[in-house]
Amino acid sequence: MKDKNPPKKVFERQSNQGSSLTKKETAKVAGGVFVYTGELSVAELAIKLNVAPTDIIRLLFMKQKMFTINSKLDDDTIGLVCIEYGLDFKKEKPVSQENIEEYHIEDDEKSLKERPPVVTIMGHVDHGKTTLIDAIRSSNIAEGEFGGISQAIGAYQREFKGKKITFIDTPGHEAFTAMRSRGTKVTDIVVLVVAADDGVMQQTREAIDHAKAAGVPMIVAINKMDKPGANVKKIKEDLMQLDVIAEEYGGAVIFVEVSAKLKKGIDGLLENILALAELHELKANPNRYALGTVLEAVLDKGEGPKATLLVENGTLNNSDYVVVGSVYGKVRRMTNELNAPLKSAAPSTPVAVIGLSDLPLAGESFMAFPTEKEAKEIALKRQEQKSQSARSGTPSIDQLNVKLSAGDVSMINLIIKTDNTGSAEAIKASLEKMNFEGVKIKLIRVATGAINESDVLLAQTTNAFVYGFNIRPDGNIRQKATELKVDIRMHRIIYALIEEIEALAKGKLKVAMVEEVTGQMQVRQLFKIGKVGTIAGGMVISGSLAANNPVRLLRNSAIIFEGKISSMKRLKNDVKEVANGFECGISIQNYDDVKEGDIIEGYRLVEKK
Ligand code: GDP
Repeated sequence: MKDKNPPKKVFERQSNQGSSLTKKETAKVAGGVFVYTGELSVAELAIKLNVAPTDIIRLLFMKQKMFTINSKLDDDTIGLVCIEYGLDFKKEKPVSQENIEEYHIEDDEKSLKERPPVVTIMGHVDHGKTTLIDAIRSSNIAEGEFGGISQAIGAYQREFKGKKITFIDTPGHEAFTAMRSRGTKVTDIVVLVVAADDGVMQQTREAIDHAKAAGVPMIVAINKMDKPGANVKKIKEDLMQLDVIAEEYGGAVIFVEVSAKLKKGIDGLLENILALAELHELKANPNRYALGTVLEAVLDKGEGPKATLLVENGTLNNSDYVVVGSVYGKVRRMTNELNAPLKSAAPSTPVAVIGLSDLPLAGESFMAFPTEKEAKEIALKRQEQKSQSARSGTPSIDQLNVKLSAGDVSMINLIIKTDNTGSAEAIKASLEKMNFEGVKIKLIRVATGAINESDVLLAQTTNAFVYGFNIRPDGNIRQKATELKVDIRMHRIIYALIEEIEALAKGKLKVAMVEEVTGQMQVRQLFKIGKVGTIAGGMVISGSLAANNPVRLLRNSAIIFEGKISSMKRLKNDVKEVANGFECGISIQNYDDVKEGDIIEGYRLVEKK
């Protein structure tokens, strides 16, 4: 029986601000690592480490460091304390408010509810993606209710056995990757369509690379099963070569046989999507302000900017204030794919939204806010950031190298395209043999054929370098690569390509290289010799000097010049090395101004142990 006067439910949605590590959570211990962002006092650190403040004060006192409970700790001291408690430590960059892409919302387990899976359909051209999307959609549209007319908004939901599944409408991996390149991963499951009569083709392989790079589970739909010539066994075997292994071959990938044209096998596909979704326990917190991704945006002549948003977490309500990409607005009208008005959109729901001040880009993030003031402020800051980053140019491979070396990234991602399978195999084999301590080379894709847009997009999302062997990208691809700041490199000789990658890996290791002084020579006498220039005569006073060491000239302990030895002689003979206590004459390449009393110091770079 229904309660006549149910208690009034106070429904207060959680704001997204303050959910990130920057706000409420300034620090936490996760997996044996103490992760923190800002400054911490002894008291704050004690709470986070779950120890008594006095313990920390005592511990630091033992190390001759005096602190009180309210003292602020510097990073070194925080590190020291962590080590004492057997924890690793890591300082994270604070995520600024406007950086909604990097906000990681951590919802309380109790507030999480099951949400529908978001599915993207990928596969080779003509293998039946569009037909499959239509088959899934049309078998569900409530006949008559909305006149059966579907309004393409980039995504739709299908209900099956009382559960919803969200399908991203745009078939192909371009959209999928465009999303990913902006740092969002909207897809939970990829359905890979392979035509039974055609088998595994180039874009099938590409789609697999994309799904794998994104770490998204796959279901293979073998389509066109109605056609004669359908060869399921061959497809399974071919896919096994690509590490997409069916259950009967000992793998875990689900294969479903369908005919999109005859609408056969669709239920089986949907059933398996739901089963896989259940396995992955997809959840979100409906009780917070919405955040998610722009699927597409168009300028509607009558209504202005219209964006399809996929709510990934939280609930989007009519009249909410939203920042979408770097524009903001108020949700004036919200509709589903059938153009039916909605009051609210729960997690995994795609909705078309009217009310934005301008057009956002597909793949950009959005977030809802309780007040217009917040939304406006954040949108403005994002616009500023955008115009700033637009001014910075394309980084060169060297800059990228520096970028990679500077952080704790120790992975070099590569996409390699070659003229034939022989060279692809050879390059792959050489690279797989490479072994550098501290650096891992990951082959995101090695394939034959021209460098295409898919390669460039994949390179952008995975921060990979693209290498072309005996092939060249055309002008459009080059332009795209420049736009997306992807570095494409060409080679015609395998070993040159390998050498360059080796250098890249070693370059990354530079951070771990240290200088080691081999020896010093004191300059005692100078000889000016016509064409040769100044020869510094003196004695090695420590270690030894080798002719191929880089050297630096020190005067009163200051470095005056750094360079190479151009000649090194002992008793008029060229020598390779001079040991401690022996005299020699040295001239330095491109430097003539040596003075008596100077020290010539030889050094070398060695790997830091
Ligand atoms: P897409 O490029 O992957 O989107 O492929 P389409 O959906 O456009 O399909 C390409 C062609 O294959 C069209 O002529 C479809 O009618 C046909 N097709 C798609 N699915 C099936 C199927 O299950 N059986 C047969 N016989 N043809 C199909």
